[in-house]
Amino acid sequence: MTCYDLHSHSTASDGSLEPEALIARAIEKGVDVLALTDHDGTEGIAAAQRAAQGTELHLIAGVEISVTWAKGTVHIIGLNIDPENTVLQQGLTKMRDFRVGRAEEIAARLEKSGISGALEGAKKYASEVMLGRLHFAKFLVEHGHAKDVTDVFKRYLVRNKPGYVPGEWAKLEDAVHWITAAGGQAVIAHPARYKMTATKRRRLITDFKEAGGIGFEVVSGRQHPEEVKELAKLAQQFELLASCGSDFHTPDNTWVELGHLATMPESCTPIWTVFDT
Ligand code: AMP
Ligand code: MN
Ligand code: MN
Ligand code: MN
Repeated sequence: MTCYDLHSHSTASDGSLEPEALIARAIEKGVDVLALTDHDGTEGIAAAQRAAQGTELHLIAGVEISVTWAKGTVHIIGLNIDPENTVLQQGLTKMRDFRVGRAEEIAARLEKSGISGALEGAKKYASEVMLGRLHFAKFLVEHGHAKDVTDVFKRYLVRNKPGYVPGEWAKLEDAVHWITAAGGQAVIAHPARYKMTATKRRRLITDFKEAGGIGFEVVSGRQHPEEVKELAKLAQQFELLASCGSDFHTPDNTWVELGHLATMPESCTPIWTVFDT
């Protein structure tokens, strides 16, 4: 059976493996089809494509766009996008610019609470193209401000904490539009991870479908079987195509691995049924 993993990160966002190393690991773990879906950017795709060429791995060009919807953050995956598409790149450039200002603001806020050098410190963990909260988290752990990354987020980087910076990501309809304009399929990432009521989740799906979204990540890394069942039901009710992806970031996190995913429930129509290849 073909092994699909349609959600992963490289050093082009907050993953710890270079695109080449990510491809090598995916092959080693038995993945047949991998989507590279870095946050708000496609800079890793060319290198990943080169690395996948001539191997048995099929690489899908993807992206994971940060969206502000109903005052919360939601992630939308784009699969089979054309990374050269102007509409998509114009949108992503705005996101990257927002990240630059946000990073400065995070550092300024941390400075006020007595932690200096956070911007330079976080940059040490990041590539040139993207600075995210995970890079700040690594800096804060290194300097003994928290015991691990999970702990840092709770204490510093979420709402009402010293290093939190509010801000507007892309609008849901814009993110979906950029993806579809670039020839891709839009998918709601890790739907079980958002803290929202069932009613609100349905509203999100309705808005997403109205914007042109077609996919729903039914199977995600480190997920409870009950959650998979529930998401499969939703996908069926709303006639959404089901996707699966590990959301792999790093080999250090031993409970999320490339290609290690629950089986797609039979009631689902997999998103790859609409892929060209
Ligand atoms: P950003 O897009 O820069 O706001 O950062 C979001 C990223 O931070 C996510 O994609 C995860 O990689 C990481 N992240 C968010 N919350 C946590 C958490 N509680 N523990 C570990 N990593 C997290
Ligand atoms: Mn991430
Ligand atoms: Mn995400
Ligand atoms: Mn992700």
